[in-house]
Amino acid sequence: MAQIRIENVRKDFGAFNAVKSSTFTVEDGEFFMLLGPSGCGKTTTLRMMAGLELPTSGEIYIDGGEVGMKPASQRDIAFVFQMFALYPHMNVGKNISYPLYSQGMAKADVKKKVDEVAEILGIQDILNKPVGGLSGGDRQRVALGRAIVRSPKAFLMDEPLGALDAEFREHMSEELRALHDRMGATTVYVTHDQLEAMQMGDKIVVMNHGVVEQFGVPQEIYDWPATKFVANFIGSPSMNFLDFGGMVGVGTHSVALNGVKVEVPAMREGAKGPLSVGVRPEHIHFSDDAEYRGRVVASEYLGTTQIVTLATANGEVKARIPANVSVRTDETIGLKFDERTLTVFEGAKGTALRSVTNEKVLAHG
Ligand code: ATP
Repeated sequence: MAQIRIENVRKDFGAFNAVKSSTFTVEDGEFFMLLGPSGCGKTTTLRMMAGLELPTSGEIYIDGGEVGMKPASQRDIAFVFQMFALYPHMNVGKNISYPLYSQGMAKADVKKKVDEVAEILGIQDILNKPVGGLSGGDRQRVALGRAIVRSPKAFLMDEPLGALDAEFREHMSEELRALHDRMGATTVYVTHDQLEAMQMGDKIVVMNHGVVEQFGVPQEIYDWPATKFVANFIGSPSMNFLDFGGMVGVGTHSVALNGVKVEVPAMREGAKGPLSVGVRPEHIHFSDDAEYRGRVVASEYLGTTQIVTLATANGEVKARIPANVSVRTDETIGLKFDERTLTVFEGAKGTALRSVTNEKVLAHG
């Protein structure tokens, strides 16, 4: 088990800066997600942790010891790729035991270890089968078995479920998480799928263009996005942004949207427009007496809820409301916002202006 710390790590490929100065800590035993769109630098960050890529500058610590320039073989970390190559001419047991024989472990100890791992993964009954005829799930379990059997300090996984279809992917992600909970080994997991990150992770780092935009537990990131990018990337449909001009001062508790006063959590810092109020679809409520109004453009039925798209004076918004509320296209509806859940963003950079005090108060009820 291990704590992994990235400190001011930067990576350049020639003139291209793939990872800007990044700092975060993966605590011992955590299931830690590196999340972001394609090309944001997730894989490069993971490869630097593994020792497969050297940082241009900055430090990487494993259990407090600096390893930035150490080769992968000296880090005692297992790297699980999306496309894992199993040895086709060996049976399941041999595939799993191979890393132990190459370490020179005695035969009796290898057997004990392989049996242990097979039990953890529930594959005791296929140990003698050739890997060729296995289902996708069993192949994945064998590949995991090969990584687990060495009892490494940590697992680094690069979109390990990326090649699977949606249903099976969900099943395997639950299995992976359960396996982690049983073993308690530090795991760093790369994904571009925000839902997967929210469901599986103890903590999430959200990256964009080589920059760590936010780092925290899933709920904190969902409820209190630090930037517009994070607010947009997490959640489906994503957060709405009601754009407005003007100015807000430190400590302000309300903003004017098309002349209507909307209460917001107090601001940490003042800012001049363009500004926007961020509101999640589930935090918009329909109310006849609400002064702020929107016109229904479309609605999408989802079973227990529906997503209603409305045109407002500050841009289009999507509201998630119960499916049994009847709405008609073109009708005008009063909209109420759940004040405590709103975040004001500064337009140009998209930084959240919410007050830290509010965050703490809300986080602890
Ligand atoms: P993806 O999910 O598409 O793999 P990612 O977030 O993992 O994306 P990286 O693979 O880390 O992104 O790549 C970050 C950027 O660095 C990309 O623009 C990529 O083209 C570039 N890059 C990665 N490896 C190299 C390399 N060896 N040489 C040059 N550029 C590279």
